[in-house]
Amino acid sequence: MNLHYDLHTHSTASDGTLTPQELVTRAHEQGVDVLALTDHDTTEGLAEAAQAAAELGLQFVNGVEISVTWNGQLVHIVGLQVDPAHAPLREGLAALRARRDERAEEVARRLEKKCGIAGALAGARTHATGSVISRAHFARFLVEQGHGRDVREVFDRYLTPGKPGYVAMEWAALEDAVSWIRGAGGMAVIAHPARYKLTSTKLRRLLGDFKGCGGEGIEVVSGSHSRDECHAMLGHALRFGLLASCGSDYHGPVTPWVELGRLPALPQGCVPVWERWAAWNGAGAPQALAR
Ligand code: AMP
Ligand code: MN
Ligand code: MN
Ligand code: MN
Repeated sequence: MNLHYDLHTHSTASDGTLTPQELVTRAHEQGVDVLALTDHDTTEGLAEAAQAAAELGLQFVNGVEISVTWNGQLVHIVGLQVDPAHAPLREGLAALRARRDERAEEVARRLEKKCGIAGALAGARTHATGSVISRAHFARFLVEQGHGRDVREVFDRYLTPGKPGYVAMEWAALEDAVSWIRGAGGMAVIAHPARYKLTSTKLRRLLGDFKGCGGEGIEVVSGSHSRDECHAMLGHALRFGLLASCGSDYHGPVTPWVELGRLPALPQGCVPVWERWAAWNGAGAPQALAR
């Protein structure tokens, strides 16, 4: 049987708009068989999602999406099948969340000083119900206040590099993020590689570094990849001997151009990340990966 996998999604534990339980329910309705919750810099939603998945008979994968700075560039590393109790992972993520809090204060200061927009921190916090504050929460506040038509427009106007509310930050080091994930028994996967808009030389350098520090997978199919980008990422997976993953990067009905359970199949020729999980799924509980 061909199972439907979605291995990259968000809940209210970070910047998604559905609770973990609502997310799992919607994934089930949309025909997803195997779902990973991969919130930004937190594993707080996993227990609720796992329980909802068990009730609905959906296979659930403990995941996370870690913010990394590589060569001055923001890169996201997804961890799949992680044990959220692993101390270095917990501590690493807690430090990133603290950095997010500091950044949020600075974003609000800049929006006030440069754009005359007051109350952005409190406004963004009304949208952030978990312990992670994200630019997405600021974007929702800015739309609510009429500073743009939608989230994409306010990102372009205020929240991207070079814009008044953008604050450059140093996130985790690539090797640290990979080592927290592997230490937690998980597999590290480069998220939506085409989104970084790197030249192919630079992307190859990133993938080489990633592989060199123990990274194992790459999102070939992503909600933010075009067909051509998917094809290009297949080439990179094969060249670097990386396993292929697929995920929508669903954030809830707030971004209606992405839906759960609507991903194309992984292209022929790649080795899916789940080929390495056969033993775990059979055993029912996540265990350390056979290396
Ligand atoms: P942060 O991790 O706090 O820097 O926020 C990044 C998040 O903002 C991403 O995970 C997306 O959810 C969202 N995001 C980033 N860029 C855009 C964009 N151009 N339009 C809409 N959402 C975006
Ligand atoms: Mn996000
Ligand atoms: Mn991401
Ligand atoms: Mn994501």
